[in-house]
Amino acid sequence: MTLHFETPLMESRALSALGDQSVWLKLDALQPCGSFKIRGIGHACAVHQSRGAQRFVSSSGGNAGLAVAYAGRRLGMPVVVVVPETTTARAKELLRLEGAEVVVHGSSWQEANQFAQTLLGATDAFVHPFDDPLLWHGHATLIDEVAHARFKPDAVVLSVGGGGLLSGVVEGLQRNRWHDVPVLAVETEGAASFHAALAAGHPVELPCISSVATSLGAKRVCEQALHCAREHPVHSLVVSDYSALAACERFLADHRILVEPACGAALSVAYDRHPALAGYSKILVIVCGGATATIDQIRTWAAQAGRA
Ligand SMILES: *Cc1c(COP(=O)(O)O)cnc(C)c1O
Repeated sequence: MTLHFETPLMESRALSALGDQSVWLKLDALQPCGSFKIRGIGHACAVHQSRGAQRFVSSSGGNAGLAVAYAGRRLGMPVVVVVPETTTARAKELLRLEGAEVVVHGSSWQEANQFAQTLLGATDAFVHPFDDPLLWHGHATLIDEVAHARFKPDAVVLSVGGGGLLSGVVEGLQRNRWHDVPVLAVETEGAASFHAALAAGHPVELPCISSVATSLGAKRVCEQALHCAREHPVHSLVVSDYSALAACERFLADHRILVEPACGAALSVAYDRHPALAGYSKILVIVCGGATATIDQIRTWAAQAGRA
């Protein structure tokens, strides 16, 4: 069973009109639960179920947890999501709406995650938010759909948190023999763990996350993200929170879709006509989406970031 949708691929006239290149959007904000995560997580959950798992456990209060909750509901499996006390009421509400049991434990994600590990019994499957080949395999369907539509971009722009989306997109590019299509991998300042890993040559742990793009807030990227950068042309870009937030606002006005700052980061590269786009004529932006931010929150953050 496939739990994700095939999403629209369309040109953004608003974005193309800003410059010399045509800008195309892969609208994964329209997936169930509002982000691309269901591609990989849906695949991983279906495989775990076929191998006999009887419950799914997650420690993400964000889009990964939501995707696990949705997959569990669709597959008829119970789901437990352990989240820290800092998780917003809205996120807990969305998880419960998908039928998941929400357990609040600890003051940080690390503590919630440790507690989640202690809950794991022999027939439980722990679903990691980004570091799992099953996830990358599922995320790669995003590029399969683009190839199937016979649209070959000159470059793909996407956001990087823990590197699961990057790993899946590179797998998709490689399995469609698009070795010559580079990836522009975007993070926000204060969440740039991929940028730091590339500089060091190995994954490094950021001391803290200081960006509002919480879905990009993995302190350390997976090894596979670095492996991708060795096997495929991948360029790292870092943008400000303010640029990401401004892109969310403009994207809402242009396309009537609200996305998280995590996704605004990738969109900002097209809105701000980032110098890294020079030389490409057809750009594909992965609109990864995100369900955890409201427009009020985005405007409050933007006002704060604008003053800083
Ligand atoms: C998870 C997520 C990301 C980052 O994906 P990784 O696989 O962790 O790199 C970006 N944007 C949104 C909306 C997400 O939910």
